[in-house]
Amino acid sequence: MRELLPILRPYRWMAVAAAVLVFVQALSEIFLPTLMASIVDDGVVKGDTGHILAVGGVMVAAAAVGMTAAFVGARLASLVAVGFARDLRNKLFAHVSSFSLQEFDKVGTATLITRTTNDVAQVQQLVFMSLRMMIRAPLMAVGGIVMAVVQDARLSLLLAAAIPLLAVVITVISRKGMPLFKAVQEKIDRLNLVTREGLAGIRVIRAFNRTQYEENRFDGANRELTGTAVRVGRLMAAMDPAMSTIFNATAIAILWFGGIRVDLGELQVGRLMAFIQYAMQIMFSLMMVSMILVMVPRAAVSASRIAEVLRMRPSVTDPEEPQVPAENLGVVEFENVTFYYPGAEVPALRGVSFTARPGQVTAIIGSIGSGKSTLVSLLLRFYDVTEGSIRVDGVDIRKWPQKELRDRIGYVPQRAMLFSGTVRENLRYGKPDATDGELRHAAEAAQAAEFVERLEDGYDALVAQGGTNLSGGQRQRLTIARALVRRPKIYVFDDNFSALDFKTDAKVRMALRRETADATVIIIAQRVATIMDADQIIVLDAGEVAGIGTHRELLESCQIYREIVASQLAEEVIA
Ligand code: ADP
Ligand code: MG
Repeated sequence: MRELLPILRPYRWMAVAAAVLVFVQALSEIFLPTLMASIVDDGVVKGDTGHILAVGGVMVAAAAVGMTAAFVGARLASLVAVGFARDLRNKLFAHVSSFSLQEFDKVGTATLITRTTNDVAQVQQLVFMSLRMMIRAPLMAVGGIVMAVVQDARLSLLLAAAIPLLAVVITVISRKGMPLFKAVQEKIDRLNLVTREGLAGIRVIRAFNRTQYEENRFDGANRELTGTAVRVGRLMAAMDPAMSTIFNATAIAILWFGGIRVDLGELQVGRLMAFIQYAMQIMFSLMMVSMILVMVPRAAVSASRIAEVLRMRPSVTDPEEPQVPAENLGVVEFENVTFYYPGAEVPALRGVSFTARPGQVTAIIGSIGSGKSTLVSLLLRFYDVTEGSIRVDGVDIRKWPQKELRDRIGYVPQRAMLFSGTVRENLRYGKPDATDGELRHAAEAAQAAEFVERLEDGYDALVAQGGTNLSGGQRQRLTIARALVRRPKIYVFDDNFSALDFKTDAKVRMALRRETADATVIIIAQRVATIMDADQIIVLDAGEVAGIGTHRELLESCQIYREIVASQLAEEVIA
Protein backbone atom coordinates (compact mmCIF):
# COMPACT_ATOMS: atom_id res chain seq x y z
CA MET A 1 0.00 0.00 0.00
CA ARG A 2 2.71 2.44 1.01
CA GLU A 3 4.39 2.15 -2.35
CA LEU A 4 1.27 3.33 -4.13
CA LEU A 5 0.96 6.50 -2.03
CA PRO A 6 3.14 8.67 -4.30
CA ILE A 7 0.59 8.11 -7.04
CA LEU A 8 -2.06 9.66 -4.78
CA ARG A 9 0.05 12.79 -4.20
CA PRO A 10 -1.35 14.93 -7.01
CA TYR A 11 -4.81 14.36 -5.59
CA ARG A 12 -4.01 15.18 -1.97
CA TRP A 13 -5.81 18.56 -1.88
CA MET A 14 -8.87 17.12 -3.52
CA ALA A 15 -8.79 14.30 -0.97
CA VAL A 16 -8.45 16.77 1.89
CA ALA A 17 -11.44 18.74 0.56
CA ALA A 18 -13.45 15.53 0.31
CA ALA A 19 -12.50 14.66 3.89
CA VAL A 20 -13.54 18.10 5.17
CA LEU A 21 -16.89 17.76 3.41
CA VAL A 22 -17.42 14.33 4.91
CA PHE A 23 -16.68 15.87 8.29
CA VAL A 24 -19.34 18.54 7.69
CA GLN A 25 -21.79 15.89 6.56
CA ALA A 26 -21.20 13.83 9.69
CA LEU A 27 -21.65 16.89 11.94
CA SER A 28 -24.99 17.62 10.34
CA GLU A 29 -26.02 14.00 10.79
CA ILE A 30 -25.04 14.13 14.47
CA PHE A 31 -26.98 17.28 15.30
CA LEU A 32 -30.18 16.71 13.36
CA PRO A 33 -31.84 14.25 15.86
CA THR A 34 -31.12 16.59 18.79
CA LEU A 35 -32.73 19.49 16.92
CA MET A 36 -35.68 17.28 16.20
CA ALA A 37 -35.99 16.33 19.89
CA SER A 38 -35.99 20.00 20.78
CA ILE A 39 -38.81 20.70 18.30
CA VAL A 40 -40.93 17.88 19.73
CA ASP A 41 -40.26 18.38 23.45
CA ASP A 42 -39.95 22.15 23.70
CA GLY A 43 -42.15 23.15 20.74
CA VAL A 44 -44.91 20.66 19.96
CA VAL A 45 -45.58 19.52 23.53
CA LYS A 46 -45.64 23.09 24.92
CA GLY A 47 -47.41 24.52 21.84
CA ASP A 48 -44.63 27.06 21.23
CA THR A 49 -44.91 27.79 17.49
CA GLY A 50 -42.11 30.34 17.57
CA HIS A 51 -39.70 27.73 18.89
CA ILE A 52 -40.84 25.20 16.30
CA LEU A 53 -40.22 27.64 13.47
CA ALA A 54 -36.86 28.82 14.80
CA VAL A 55 -35.40 25.36 15.44
CA GLY A 56 -37.08 24.03 12.30
CA GLY A 57 -35.27 26.69 10.28
CA VAL A 58 -31.93 25.68 11.79
CA MET A 59 -32.77 22.05 11.06
CA VAL A 60 -33.54 22.75 7.42
CA ALA A 61 -30.31 24.73 7.08
CA ALA A 62 -28.28 21.96 8.75
CA ALA A 63 -29.88 19.34 6.52
CA ALA A 64 -29.18 21.43 3.40
CA VAL A 65 -25.53 21.92 4.37
CA GLY A 66 -25.22 18.21 5.14
CA MET A 67 -26.73 17.17 1.83
CA THR A 68 -24.58 19.56 -0.19
CA ALA A 69 -21.50 18.34 1.64
CA ALA A 70 -22.49 14.75 0.96
CA PHE A 71 -23.03 15.41 -2.74
CA VAL A 72 -19.85 17.41 -3.40
CA GLY A 73 -17.83 15.15 -1.09
CA ALA A 74 -18.88 12.02 -2.95
CA ARG A 75 -18.03 13.63 -6.27
CA LEU A 76 -14.59 14.67 -5.11
CA ALA A 77 -13.93 11.25 -3.62
CA SER A 78 -14.80 9.51 -6.85
CA LEU A 79 -12.67 11.95 -8.86
CA VAL A 80 -9.73 11.16 -6.61
CA ALA A 81 -10.30 7.41 -6.85
CA VAL A 82 -10.79 7.36 -10.62
CA GLY A 83 -7.84 9.66 -11.28
CA PHE A 84 -5.64 7.59 -9.01
CA ALA A 85 -6.64 4.41 -10.83
CA ARG A 86 -5.94 5.95 -14.23
CA ASP A 87 -2.49 7.14 -13.16
CA LEU A 88 -1.71 3.80 -11.58
CA ARG A 89 -2.66 1.90 -14.74
CA ASN A 90 -0.52 4.24 -16.83
CA LYS A 91 2.38 3.79 -14.49
CA LEU A 92 2.02 0.01 -14.52
CA PHE A 93 1.82 -0.15 -18.29
CA ALA A 94 4.83 2.13 -18.73
CA HIS A 95 6.80 0.13 -16.19
CA VAL A 96 5.93 -3.21 -17.74
CA SER A 97 6.92 -1.85 -21.14
CA SER A 98 10.42 -1.32 -19.80
CA PHE A 99 10.73 -5.00 -18.87
CA SER A 100 13.07 -7.20 -20.83
CA LEU A 101 11.74 -10.52 -22.08
CA GLN A 102 13.35 -12.03 -19.02
CA GLU A 103 10.79 -10.39 -16.74
CA PHE A 104 7.95 -11.40 -19.04
CA ASP A 105 9.18 -14.99 -18.91
CA LYS A 106 9.18 -14.74 -15.13
CA VAL A 107 5.75 -13.24 -14.33
CA GLY A 108 3.59 -14.19 -17.29
CA THR A 109 1.34 -11.99 -19.37
CA ALA A 110 -2.00 -13.15 -17.95
CA THR A 111 -1.28 -11.98 -14.43
CA LEU A 112 0.16 -8.70 -15.71
CA ILE A 113 -3.16 -8.00 -17.38
CA THR A 114 -5.20 -8.85 -14.26
CA ARG A 115 -2.94 -6.71 -12.13
CA THR A 116 -3.32 -3.72 -14.44
CA THR A 117 -7.09 -4.01 -14.56
CA ASN A 118 -8.82 -5.92 -11.79
CA ASP A 119 -6.32 -5.31 -9.00
CA VAL A 120 -6.21 -1.61 -9.76
CA ALA A 121 -10.02 -1.53 -9.58
CA GLN A 122 -9.89 -3.08 -6.07
CA VAL A 123 -7.49 -0.43 -4.82
CA GLN A 124 -9.52 2.29 -6.51
CA GLN A 125 -12.60 1.13 -4.63
CA LEU A 126 -10.74 1.22 -1.34
CA VAL A 127 -9.56 4.78 -2.00
CA PHE A 128 -13.14 5.83 -2.66
CA MET A 129 -14.57 4.03 0.37
CA SER A 130 -11.86 5.39 2.64
CA LEU A 131 -12.58 8.95 1.60
CA ARG A 132 -16.27 8.42 2.19
CA MET A 133 -16.29 6.27 5.28
CA MET A 134 -13.01 6.20 7.12
CA ILE A 135 -13.68 9.63 8.64
CA ARG A 136 -17.43 9.49 8.76
CA ALA A 137 -17.78 6.13 10.50
CA PRO A 138 -15.66 6.78 13.61
CA LEU A 139 -16.99 10.33 13.88
CA MET A 140 -20.56 9.16 13.74
CA ALA A 141 -19.90 6.34 16.17
CA VAL A 142 -18.26 8.56 18.77
CA GLY A 143 -20.60 11.50 18.15
CA GLY A 144 -23.59 9.19 18.29
CA ILE A 145 -22.51 7.65 21.59
CA VAL A 146 -21.88 11.04 23.20
CA MET A 147 -25.22 12.39 22.02
CA ALA A 148 -27.06 9.23 23.10
CA VAL A 149 -25.64 9.50 26.60
CA VAL A 150 -26.62 13.16 26.69
CA GLN A 151 -30.22 12.22 25.79
CA ASP A 152 -30.49 9.52 28.40
CA ALA A 153 -27.64 7.85 30.25
CA ARG A 154 -29.73 4.96 31.59
CA LEU A 155 -30.97 3.88 28.15
CA SER A 156 -27.39 3.98 26.90
CA LEU A 157 -26.72 0.85 28.93
CA LEU A 158 -28.70 -1.00 26.24
CA LEU A 159 -26.13 0.08 23.68
CA ALA A 160 -23.41 -1.27 25.92
CA ALA A 161 -24.96 -4.68 25.31
CA ALA A 162 -25.79 -4.34 21.60
CA ILE A 163 -22.49 -2.89 20.34
CA PRO A 164 -20.17 -5.67 21.57
CA LEU A 165 -22.54 -8.24 20.10
CA LEU A 166 -22.39 -6.46 16.75
CA ALA A 167 -18.62 -6.24 16.96
CA VAL A 168 -18.35 -9.99 17.55
CA VAL A 169 -20.54 -10.80 14.54
CA ILE A 170 -18.53 -8.45 12.31
CA THR A 171 -15.20 -9.86 13.49
CA VAL A 172 -16.23 -13.45 12.91
CA ILE A 173 -17.45 -12.72 9.41
CA SER A 174 -14.48 -10.69 8.25
CA ARG A 175 -12.02 -13.21 9.71
CA LYS A 176 -13.61 -15.87 7.54
CA GLY A 177 -13.69 -13.59 4.51
CA MET A 178 -10.08 -12.51 4.26
CA PRO A 179 -8.45 -15.70 3.00
CA LEU A 180 -11.26 -16.04 0.48
CA PHE A 181 -10.50 -12.67 -1.09
CA LYS A 182 -6.94 -13.61 -1.81
CA ALA A 183 -8.14 -16.82 -3.39
CA VAL A 184 -10.56 -14.93 -5.62
CA GLN A 185 -7.76 -12.80 -7.04
CA GLU A 186 -5.66 -15.88 -7.81
CA LYS A 187 -8.56 -17.63 -9.49
CA ILE A 188 -9.15 -14.63 -11.72
CA ASP A 189 -5.50 -14.86 -12.80
CA ARG A 190 -5.94 -18.51 -13.64
CA LEU A 191 -9.14 -17.90 -15.60
CA ASN A 192 -7.38 -15.17 -17.56
CA LEU A 193 -4.55 -17.52 -18.42
CA VAL A 194 -6.81 -20.29 -19.61
CA THR A 195 -8.93 -17.84 -21.62
CA ARG A 196 -5.90 -16.35 -23.33
CA GLU A 197 -4.50 -19.73 -24.25
CA GLY A 198 -7.84 -20.98 -25.42
CA LEU A 199 -8.34 -18.02 -27.71
CA ALA A 200 -4.78 -17.53 -28.94
CA GLY A 201 -4.31 -21.20 -29.68
CA ILE A 202 -7.65 -21.75 -31.33
CA ARG A 203 -6.18 -23.18 -34.55
CA VAL A 204 -4.08 -25.74 -32.77
CA ILE A 205 -6.95 -26.62 -30.47
CA ARG A 206 -9.29 -27.23 -33.42
CA ALA A 207 -6.71 -29.12 -35.43
CA PHE A 208 -5.96 -31.50 -32.59
CA ASN A 209 -9.60 -31.83 -31.68
CA ARG A 210 -8.91 -30.54 -28.23
CA THR A 211 -11.88 -28.19 -28.14
CA GLN A 212 -13.57 -30.32 -25.53
CA TYR A 213 -10.42 -30.54 -23.46
CA GLU A 214 -9.98 -26.75 -23.53
CA GLU A 215 -13.63 -26.23 -22.72
CA ASN A 216 -13.25 -28.49 -19.72
CA ARG A 217 -10.15 -26.62 -18.67
CA PHE A 218 -11.98 -23.32 -18.93
CA ASP A 219 -14.97 -24.77 -17.19
CA GLY A 220 -12.73 -25.96 -14.36
CA ALA A 221 -11.10 -22.57 -13.86
CA ASN A 222 -14.44 -20.85 -14.18
CA ARG A 223 -16.06 -23.16 -11.65
CA GLU A 224 -13.26 -22.62 -9.17
CA LEU A 225 -13.66 -18.87 -9.44
CA THR A 226 -17.41 -19.14 -9.14
CA GLY A 227 -17.12 -21.47 -6.17
CA THR A 228 -14.89 -19.07 -4.28
CA ALA A 229 -16.96 -16.06 -5.25
CA VAL A 230 -20.11 -17.83 -4.09
CA ARG A 231 -18.50 -18.56 -0.74
CA VAL A 232 -17.61 -14.88 -0.41
CA GLY A 233 -21.14 -13.92 -1.41
CA ARG A 234 -22.70 -16.34 1.04
CA LEU A 235 -20.63 -14.94 3.86
CA MET A 236 -21.56 -11.39 2.96
CA ALA A 237 -25.19 -12.43 2.64
CA ALA A 238 -25.11 -13.83 6.16
CA MET A 239 -23.97 -10.43 7.37
CA ASP A 240 -27.11 -8.61 6.26
CA PRO A 241 -29.78 -10.52 8.23
CA ALA A 242 -27.48 -10.78 11.24
CA MET A 243 -27.11 -7.02 11.23
CA SER A 244 -30.79 -6.25 10.78
CA THR A 245 -31.71 -8.63 13.56
CA ILE A 246 -29.38 -6.87 15.96
CA PHE A 247 -30.52 -3.45 14.72
CA ASN A 248 -34.19 -4.14 15.10
CA ALA A 249 -33.89 -5.98 18.39
CA THR A 250 -32.03 -2.99 19.79
CA ALA A 251 -34.72 -0.60 18.51
CA ILE A 252 -37.46 -2.68 20.14
CA ALA A 253 -35.60 -2.82 23.44
CA ILE A 254 -35.07 0.94 23.39
CA LEU A 255 -38.75 1.55 22.69
CA TRP A 256 -39.77 -0.87 25.42
CA PHE A 257 -37.60 0.49 28.20
CA GLY A 258 -37.81 4.04 26.86
CA GLY A 259 -41.63 3.79 26.90
CA ILE A 260 -41.54 2.84 30.57
CA ARG A 261 -39.32 5.82 31.35
CA VAL A 262 -41.58 8.16 29.35
CA ASP A 263 -44.56 6.86 31.39
CA LEU A 264 -42.67 7.58 34.58
CA GLY A 265 -42.04 11.09 33.33
CA GLU A 266 -38.27 10.55 33.40
CA LEU A 267 -37.84 10.95 29.63
CA GLN A 268 -39.46 13.07 26.95
CA VAL A 269 -40.85 11.60 23.73
CA GLY A 270 -38.68 13.69 21.44
CA ARG A 271 -35.55 12.57 23.29
CA LEU A 272 -36.60 8.97 22.98
CA MET A 273 -37.01 9.40 19.22
CA ALA A 274 -33.61 11.07 19.00
CA PHE A 275 -32.08 8.28 21.06
CA ILE A 276 -33.32 5.65 18.64
CA GLN A 277 -31.82 7.58 15.75
CA TYR A 278 -28.48 7.81 17.52
CA ALA A 279 -28.54 4.11 18.23
CA MET A 280 -29.10 3.45 14.53
CA GLN A 281 -26.28 5.83 13.59
CA ILE A 282 -23.86 4.12 15.92
CA MET A 283 -24.67 0.68 14.60
CA PHE A 284 -24.67 1.86 11.02
CA SER A 285 -21.24 3.35 11.46
CA LEU A 286 -20.05 0.07 12.91
CA MET A 287 -21.28 -1.59 9.77
CA MET A 288 -19.33 0.87 7.67
CA VAL A 289 -16.25 0.08 9.71
CA SER A 290 -16.84 -3.58 9.04
CA MET A 291 -17.12 -2.96 5.32
CA ILE A 292 -13.80 -1.16 5.39
CA LEU A 293 -12.32 -3.94 7.46
CA VAL A 294 -13.42 -6.40 4.81
CA MET A 295 -12.16 -4.27 1.96
CA VAL A 296 -8.80 -3.30 3.37
CA PRO A 297 -7.27 -6.78 3.31
CA ARG A 298 -8.77 -7.44 -0.09
CA ALA A 299 -7.34 -4.23 -1.51
CA ALA A 300 -4.09 -4.85 0.36
CA VAL A 301 -3.68 -8.12 -1.50
CA SER A 302 -4.27 -6.27 -4.77
CA ALA A 303 -1.95 -3.45 -3.77
CA SER A 304 0.85 -5.86 -2.98
CA ARG A 305 0.34 -7.62 -6.29
CA ILE A 306 0.62 -4.25 -8.03
CA ALA A 307 3.60 -3.18 -5.95
CA GLU A 308 5.31 -6.46 -6.81
CA VAL A 309 5.20 -5.53 -10.47
CA LEU A 310 6.31 -1.97 -9.82
CA ARG A 311 9.20 -3.24 -7.70
CA MET A 312 10.51 -5.51 -10.42
CA ARG A 313 13.52 -3.87 -11.97
CA PRO A 314 14.05 -4.49 -15.67
CA SER A 315 17.20 -6.57 -16.04
CA VAL A 316 18.07 -4.86 -19.31
CA THR A 317 18.65 -1.18 -18.61
CA ASP A 318 20.35 1.79 -20.15
CA PRO A 319 23.82 2.54 -18.77
CA GLU A 320 24.44 5.60 -16.60
CA GLU A 321 26.60 7.15 -19.26
CA PRO A 322 25.46 5.80 -22.58
CA GLN A 323 27.92 5.73 -25.37
CA VAL A 324 27.03 6.03 -29.02
CA PRO A 325 29.81 5.28 -31.46
CA ALA A 326 30.81 8.10 -33.76
CA GLU A 327 30.46 6.02 -36.86
CA ASN A 328 27.28 4.40 -38.03
CA LEU A 329 28.54 1.47 -40.04
CA GLY A 330 26.67 -1.52 -38.71
CA VAL A 331 29.54 -3.83 -37.83
CA VAL A 332 28.25 -6.58 -35.52
CA GLU A 333 30.73 -8.54 -33.45
CA PHE A 334 29.93 -11.46 -31.16
CA GLU A 335 32.82 -12.33 -28.90
CA ASN A 336 32.70 -15.56 -27.00
CA VAL A 337 29.00 -15.13 -26.20
CA THR A 338 27.42 -17.57 -23.77
CA PHE A 339 23.80 -17.25 -22.71
CA TYR A 340 21.58 -19.11 -20.27
CA TYR A 341 17.85 -18.49 -20.19
CA PRO A 342 16.77 -17.70 -16.63
CA GLY A 343 16.69 -20.94 -14.70
CA ALA A 344 18.01 -23.05 -17.57
CA GLU A 345 20.72 -25.59 -16.79
CA VAL A 346 22.27 -25.77 -20.23
CA PRO A 347 23.25 -22.66 -22.13
CA ALA A 348 21.20 -21.74 -25.21
CA LEU A 349 24.43 -20.38 -26.69
CA ARG A 350 28.02 -21.23 -25.78
CA GLY A 351 31.18 -19.43 -26.86
CA VAL A 352 29.75 -17.92 -30.03
CA SER A 353 32.13 -15.60 -31.90
CA PHE A 354 31.75 -14.06 -35.33
CA THR A 355 31.73 -10.71 -37.11
CA ALA A 356 29.04 -9.54 -39.52
CA ARG A 357 30.15 -6.71 -41.77
CA PRO A 358 28.33 -4.09 -43.79
CA GLY A 359 27.79 -4.99 -47.41
CA GLN A 360 27.83 -8.67 -46.52
CA VAL A 361 25.17 -11.26 -45.92
CA THR A 362 25.77 -13.36 -42.84
CA ALA A 363 23.57 -16.43 -42.77
CA ILE A 364 22.82 -18.60 -39.78
CA ILE A 365 21.64 -22.14 -40.26
CA GLY A 366 21.02 -24.92 -37.79
CA SER A 367 18.37 -27.32 -36.63
CA ILE A 368 15.36 -26.21 -34.59
CA GLY A 369 16.35 -25.25 -31.07
CA SER A 370 19.99 -24.70 -31.98
CA GLY A 371 19.83 -21.12 -30.66
CA LYS A 372 19.34 -19.08 -33.82
CA SER A 373 16.50 -16.92 -32.53
CA THR A 374 18.27 -16.60 -29.19
CA LEU A 375 21.28 -15.17 -30.97
CA VAL A 376 19.29 -12.33 -32.51
CA SER A 377 17.33 -11.74 -29.29
CA LEU A 378 20.69 -10.99 -27.70
CA LEU A 379 21.68 -8.61 -30.49
CA LEU A 380 18.43 -6.67 -29.95
CA ARG A 381 19.00 -6.77 -26.17
CA PHE A 382 15.76 -8.55 -25.43
CA TYR A 383 18.07 -10.34 -23.02
CA ASP A 384 21.62 -9.60 -21.89
CA VAL A 385 24.46 -12.05 -22.49
CA THR A 386 25.59 -14.19 -19.58
CA GLU A 387 29.25 -14.13 -20.64
CA GLY A 388 31.23 -12.53 -23.43
CA SER A 389 30.12 -9.45 -25.29
CA ILE A 390 28.33 -8.20 -28.36
CA ARG A 391 29.63 -5.06 -30.01
CA VAL A 392 28.03 -2.91 -32.66
CA ASP A 393 30.41 -0.48 -34.35
CA GLY A 394 33.00 -1.29 -31.75
CA VAL A 395 30.91 -0.45 -28.67
CA ASP A 396 29.44 -3.08 -26.34
CA ILE A 397 25.66 -2.98 -26.84
CA ARG A 398 25.18 -2.79 -23.07
CA LYS A 399 26.80 0.65 -23.27
CA TRP A 400 24.38 1.83 -25.97
CA PRO A 401 21.10 3.54 -25.20
CA GLN A 402 18.60 0.79 -26.06
CA LYS A 403 16.61 3.10 -28.30
CA GLU A 404 19.63 4.05 -30.42
CA LEU A 405 20.64 0.45 -30.79
CA ARG A 406 17.22 -0.72 -31.90
CA ASP A 407 16.80 2.28 -34.18
CA ARG A 408 19.68 0.97 -36.23
CA ILE A 409 18.33 -2.54 -36.61
CA GLY A 410 15.57 -3.65 -38.95
CA TYR A 411 14.24 -6.78 -37.31
CA VAL A 412 11.85 -9.23 -38.88
CA PRO A 413 10.73 -11.63 -36.16
CA GLN A 414 10.25 -15.33 -36.68
CA ARG A 415 6.55 -15.09 -35.95
CA ALA A 416 5.05 -12.54 -38.33
CA MET A 417 3.42 -10.09 -35.94
CA LEU A 418 1.14 -7.41 -37.33
CA PHE A 419 -1.06 -4.96 -35.44
CA SER A 420 -4.72 -4.26 -35.98
CA GLY A 421 -5.04 -1.22 -38.25
CA THR A 422 -4.41 -0.55 -41.91
CA VAL A 423 -1.63 -1.96 -44.06
CA ARG A 424 -0.19 1.55 -44.24
CA GLU A 425 -0.11 1.94 -40.45
CA ASN A 426 1.62 -1.40 -40.14
CA LEU A 427 4.28 -0.55 -42.70
CA ARG A 428 4.89 2.81 -41.04
CA TYR A 429 5.30 1.19 -37.64
CA GLY A 430 9.07 1.72 -37.49
CA LYS A 431 9.08 5.07 -39.33
CA PRO A 432 5.91 7.06 -38.67
CA ASP A 433 6.80 9.77 -41.19
CA ALA A 434 7.46 7.46 -44.14
CA THR A 435 5.94 8.67 -47.40
CA ASP A 436 3.61 6.56 -49.54
CA GLY A 437 6.42 6.33 -52.09
CA GLU A 438 8.73 4.82 -49.49
CA LEU A 439 6.05 2.37 -48.40
CA ARG A 440 5.37 1.26 -51.96
CA HIS A 441 9.05 0.88 -52.67
CA ALA A 442 9.53 -1.32 -49.60
CA ALA A 443 6.43 -3.34 -50.39
CA GLU A 444 7.67 -3.95 -53.91
CA ALA A 445 11.02 -5.18 -52.67
CA ALA A 446 9.31 -7.53 -50.22
CA GLN A 447 7.02 -8.77 -53.03
CA ALA A 448 4.05 -7.49 -51.07
CA ALA A 449 3.01 -4.65 -53.38
CA GLU A 450 1.21 -6.91 -55.79
CA PHE A 451 -1.14 -8.51 -53.29
CA VAL A 452 -1.65 -5.29 -51.31
CA GLU A 453 -2.72 -3.45 -54.44
CA ARG A 454 -5.12 -6.25 -55.24
CA LEU A 455 -6.83 -5.78 -51.85
CA GLU A 456 -10.01 -3.77 -52.11
CA ASP A 457 -8.70 -0.78 -50.19
CA GLY A 458 -5.04 -1.24 -51.13
CA TYR A 459 -2.80 0.33 -48.49
CA ASP A 460 -5.87 1.35 -46.51
CA ALA A 461 -7.07 -2.24 -46.25
CA LEU A 462 -7.64 -3.30 -42.67
CA VAL A 463 -5.41 -5.85 -41.02
CA ALA A 464 -7.27 -7.82 -38.38
CA GLN A 465 -5.81 -8.28 -34.92
CA GLY A 466 -2.75 -10.49 -35.34
CA GLY A 467 -3.09 -10.23 -39.12
CA THR A 468 -5.40 -13.22 -39.25
CA ASN A 469 -7.10 -12.05 -42.45
CA LEU A 470 -3.85 -12.51 -44.36
CA SER A 471 -2.00 -15.69 -45.23
CA GLY A 472 1.20 -16.60 -43.42
CA GLY A 473 3.28 -15.73 -46.46
CA GLN A 474 1.52 -12.40 -46.92
CA ARG A 475 2.05 -11.49 -43.31
CA GLN A 476 5.69 -12.44 -43.57
CA ARG A 477 6.16 -10.23 -46.63
CA LEU A 478 4.53 -7.29 -44.87
CA THR A 479 6.82 -7.68 -41.89
CA ILE A 480 9.81 -7.72 -44.25
CA ALA A 481 8.52 -4.55 -45.93
CA ARG A 482 8.01 -2.97 -42.51
CA ALA A 483 11.69 -3.49 -41.69
CA LEU A 484 12.79 -2.21 -45.11
CA VAL A 485 10.87 1.06 -44.65
CA ARG A 486 13.23 2.01 -41.83
CA ARG A 487 16.33 1.69 -44.02
CA PRO A 488 18.48 0.66 -41.07
CA LYS A 489 22.19 -0.20 -41.06
CA ILE A 490 21.61 -3.70 -39.82
CA TYR A 491 18.94 -6.14 -41.00
CA VAL A 492 17.95 -9.22 -39.07
CA PHE A 493 15.67 -11.78 -40.71
CA ASP A 494 14.68 -14.55 -38.34
CA ASP A 495 13.69 -17.47 -40.48
CA ASN A 496 11.21 -15.52 -42.59
CA PHE A 497 11.79 -17.26 -45.86
CA SER A 498 10.54 -20.73 -45.14
CA ALA A 499 6.98 -19.33 -45.10
CA LEU A 500 7.48 -18.29 -48.73
CA ASP A 501 7.40 -20.56 -51.75
CA PHE A 502 10.69 -21.11 -53.56
CA LYS A 503 9.90 -18.62 -56.30
CA THR A 504 8.88 -15.78 -53.99
CA ASP A 505 11.77 -16.60 -51.70
CA ALA A 506 14.20 -16.12 -54.60
CA LYS A 507 12.50 -12.92 -55.75
CA VAL A 508 12.51 -11.36 -52.27
CA ARG A 509 16.15 -12.20 -51.81
CA MET A 510 17.09 -10.72 -55.14
CA ALA A 511 15.28 -7.48 -54.31
CA LEU A 512 16.82 -7.52 -50.84
CA ARG A 513 20.29 -7.72 -52.34
CA ARG A 514 19.60 -4.41 -54.06
CA GLU A 515 17.91 -2.77 -51.08
CA THR A 516 20.41 -3.81 -48.51
CA ALA A 517 23.57 -3.56 -50.62
CA ASP A 518 25.61 -1.56 -48.09
CA ALA A 519 23.92 -2.78 -44.92
CA THR A 520 24.83 -5.62 -42.60
CA VAL A 521 22.40 -8.44 -43.25
CA ILE A 522 21.89 -11.35 -40.88
CA ILE A 523 19.60 -14.03 -42.27
CA ILE A 524 18.44 -17.04 -40.33
CA ALA A 525 17.20 -19.78 -42.57
CA GLN A 526 16.25 -23.41 -42.70
CA ARG A 527 16.72 -23.94 -46.41
CA VAL A 528 20.22 -24.17 -47.77
CA ALA A 529 18.92 -22.69 -51.03
CA THR A 530 18.02 -19.47 -49.22
CA ILE A 531 21.54 -18.84 -47.97
CA MET A 532 23.82 -20.63 -50.40
CA ASP A 533 25.16 -17.40 -51.86
CA ALA A 534 25.70 -15.65 -48.48
CA ASP A 535 29.13 -14.16 -47.87
CA GLN A 536 29.49 -16.19 -44.72
CA ILE A 537 27.40 -18.97 -43.25
CA ILE A 538 27.43 -19.78 -39.56
CA VAL A 539 26.38 -23.30 -38.69
CA LEU A 540 24.88 -23.54 -35.21
CA ASP A 541 24.58 -26.83 -33.43
CA ALA A 542 23.11 -27.05 -29.93
CA GLY A 543 24.13 -23.47 -29.19
CA GLU A 544 27.68 -23.81 -30.45
CA VAL A 545 29.27 -22.70 -33.68
CA ALA A 546 30.01 -25.81 -35.71
CA GLY A 547 31.53 -23.96 -38.64
CA ILE A 548 31.86 -20.58 -40.34
CA GLY A 549 32.58 -20.04 -44.02
CA THR A 550 31.07 -19.84 -47.47
CA HIS A 551 28.88 -22.59 -48.88
CA ARG A 552 31.86 -24.05 -50.68
CA GLU A 553 34.21 -23.89 -47.71
CA LEU A 554 31.67 -25.44 -45.39
CA LEU A 555 30.90 -28.26 -47.81
CA GLU A 556 34.54 -29.22 -47.45
CA SER A 557 35.15 -28.48 -43.79
CA CYS A 558 31.91 -28.91 -41.87
CA GLN A 559 30.35 -32.31 -41.33
CA ILE A 560 27.09 -30.92 -39.91
CA TYR A 561 26.68 -28.57 -42.85
CA ARG A 562 27.19 -31.43 -45.28
CA GLU A 563 24.50 -33.39 -43.46
CA ILE A 564 22.05 -30.50 -43.69
CA VAL A 565 22.76 -30.07 -47.38
CA ALA A 566 22.47 -33.77 -48.05
CA SER A 567 19.14 -34.07 -46.27
CA GLN A 568 17.69 -31.14 -48.21
CA LEU A 569 19.04 -32.27 -51.58
CA ALA A 570 17.38 -35.58 -50.99
CA GLU A 571 14.11 -33.77 -50.29
CA GLU A 572 14.37 -31.79 -53.49
CA VAL A 573 15.06 -34.86 -55.53
CA ILE A 574 11.99 -36.50 -54.07
CA ALA A 575 9.97 -33.35 -54.63
P1 ADP B 1 15.96 -21.78 -32.88
O1 ADP B 1 15.55 -20.38 -33.20
O2 ADP B 1 17.30 -22.14 -33.43
O3 ADP B 1 14.94 -22.77 -33.27
P2 ADP B 1 15.85 -20.86 -30.15
O4 ADP B 1 16.92 -19.83 -30.10
O5 ADP B 1 14.46 -20.39 -30.24
O6 ADP B 1 16.15 -21.90 -31.31
O7 ADP B 1 15.96 -21.77 -28.85
C1 ADP B 1 17.20 -22.27 -28.38
C2 ADP B 1 16.99 -22.99 -27.09
O8 ADP B 1 16.59 -22.10 -26.06
C3 ADP B 1 15.91 -24.06 -27.17
O9 ADP B 1 16.37 -25.17 -26.43
C4 ADP B 1 14.72 -23.45 -26.48
O10 ADP B 1 13.96 -24.42 -25.82
C5 ADP B 1 15.35 -22.51 -25.48
N1 ADP B 1 14.51 -21.32 -25.28
C6 ADP B 1 14.07 -20.48 -26.24
N2 ADP B 1 13.35 -19.46 -25.72
C7 ADP B 1 13.34 -19.65 -24.37
C8 ADP B 1 12.78 -18.93 -23.25
N3 ADP B 1 12.08 -17.79 -23.42
N4 ADP B 1 12.98 -19.44 -22.01
C9 ADP B 1 13.70 -20.55 -21.84
N5 ADP B 1 14.25 -21.28 -22.84
C10 ADP B 1 14.09 -20.85 -24.09
MG1 MG C 1 13.90 -19.68 -34.05
